[in-house]
Amino acid sequence: MSDVPYTPRRIGVMGGTFDPIHNGHLVAGSEVAHRFGLDEVIFVPTGRPWHKEGAADGVVARTVSPAEHRYLMTVIATASNPDFTVSRVDIDRTGVTYTVDTLGDLRREYPDDQLFFITGADALESILTWQNWEELFELANFIGVSRPGYALDASHLDDYLATKPADALQTMEIPALAISSTDCRARAREGRPVWYLVPDGVVQYISKHGLYRKETT
Ligand code: ATP
Ligand code: MG
Repeated sequence: MSDVPYTPRRIGVMGGTFDPIHNGHLVAGSEVAHRFGLDEVIFVPTGRPWHKEGAADGVVARTVSPAEHRYLMTVIATASNPDFTVSRVDIDRTGVTYTVDTLGDLRREYPDDQLFFITGADALESILTWQNWEELFELANFIGVSRPGYALDASHLDDYLATKPADALQTMEIPALAISSTDCRARAREGRPVWYLVPDGVVQYISKHGLYRKETT
């Protein structure tokens, strides 16, 4: 009936361990959505994050909180924003999570839409170590955002990106929030406040379920 051509939607993808999700993640999603005119930002909690397994570099891995807790905190944190959604693709896939699988699954789910993978400066720094990293740029555009304590620098990708469209990787400064999940966990463990670092509902969720009380990292 309709001959109107489909206008591809512009979808942001914010992957993370979200243990717990904090305001730095939410500001990154919001700022990128505004600047790049995104229709939606999908937050994707990892299953078992490969870089937090620890075995490879001989460091004893900290235990990542159960996926359902991280998923529910992400739902609570994003619920009030009509443009934010949460995907279970990574937590429902068995095995270790690789971003290339995340983006592959979302590509299949949204075959006609444009994906923008949002990553903080620290993650961008290590992108060359990611599984099948070259394939990532075939699956999505990348948006690197600033993060206090890390240089927002993509020069390590210059050679590779020279042959790619100019918008394959873009960077943007966002308001500096010196918040990390590691610090939030330490605060919860030591009985210090996490108020205003994470959304109110996440403060309450952490307390209700006694998360981060034991020594992890
Ligand atoms: P952890 O301390 O456990 O590593 P984290 O705070 O780094 O947690 P992650 O879940 O590892 O959070 O990060 C998910 C994504 O969000 C990454 O791309 C990361 O660079 C980005 N990110 C996290 N915190 C910030 C922040 N404060 N500002 C900008 N980007 C951030
Ligand atoms: Mg991190």
